[in-house]
Amino acid sequence: MKILVTGAGGFIGGHLTKQLAALGHEVIAVDMKPTKDWYQLVGKVANHTADLSLLENAYLYSKGVSQIYNLAADMGGMGFIENNKAKCMESVLINTHLLQAARRNGVEKFFFASSACVYASFHQDTLDISPLKESDAYPADPEDGYGWEKLFSERMCRHFQEDFGIQTRVARYHNVYGPKGTYAGGREKVPAAACRKIIEAVKTGNYEINIWGDGQQLRSFTYITDCIEGTIKLMNSDYALPLNIGSSEMISINELYKATIEVVGLPYEKFKFTYDLKAPQGVRGRSSENSECRKVLSWEPNIEFKVGIKETFDWIAKELNY
Ligand code: NAD
Repeated sequence: MKILVTGAGGFIGGHLTKQLAALGHEVIAVDMKPTKDWYQLVGKVANHTADLSLLENAYLYSKGVSQIYNLAADMGGMGFIENNKAKCMESVLINTHLLQAARRNGVEKFFFASSACVYASFHQDTLDISPLKESDAYPADPEDGYGWEKLFSERMCRHFQEDFGIQTRVARYHNVYGPKGTYAGGREKVPAAACRKIIEAVKTGNYEINIWGDGQQLRSFTYITDCIEGTIKLMNSDYALPLNIGSSEMISINELYKATIEVVGLPYEKFKFTYDLKAPQGVRGRSSENSECRKVLSWEPNIEFKVGIKETFDWIAKELNY
């Protein structure tokens, strides 16, 4: 099958391109970044640099493809999305133009990477939260900026399916992490930032680490191989509504640091943690409720955090010559 992957120079798009090519598909990989900055360049794949928020580029690269996986978005961790709401919302142009192009070019199936940030904040404002089920996105009160864009684009997918017959699939990813992703520069997410901070502490001998918030906020983290497996399974399924692709293993940010330090064999007692209560920290508690995922895909993410974070740490350590 000929497949377009957008955001292919990024973290999830890079891993997805690699897996789809390994499955024997002809992949057209597009990202706005110059190819020298892509996290992965996969052999035999046609790599293109183009801005897919422009309608003409969306038309051009979706010509002759059977499927589109749209992973392109201007995004990052909490520090980025809380301070760049307009930029996050501009990603609506990417998904809208790709849907219009898909319609005109007769693309059969369209995947959109949505996020747990669509969930209403009033379900996530205490530590004794229930894991989020798909229906918790309404009544709508998503993350300002980034979450609203995702929720709107989910609905665009739904209506393009209802009105124009394009098969759309929507995954709500929960905190995806793993090797070959962003670990510095302001767009990184907690697991990668934690690995980097731990490595820097050991390298400099200064074992003091600053954590955003009080460290008790709860999250679940989805390892990249689970994310890719769930994405392809969802695309190949008949399920047309948004579906959680997320781990249900909930841990606090303090526990995340402890687990990471211990699993890589460093002395936890040597580290000292300080807390920045004014820094962006997002919702209080969030994890993924997976009964719908199990029902639809006969599967759910299952890689334990301590397994995935070890792989992530080892990759970042190599990048930082540690
Ligand atoms: P990423 O930032 O590593 O990748 C996104 C890629 O999109 C980048 O390489 C960027 O250059 C590209 N891009 C941005 N604007 C573009 C444009 N106009 N035209 C072409 N390319 C453009 O992010 P990621 O972690 O790989 O996330 C992929 C998708 O999954 C995004 O839609 C993101 O919102 C969603 N998502 C990710 C997570 C996560 O934890 N990583 C969680 C929920 C949802």
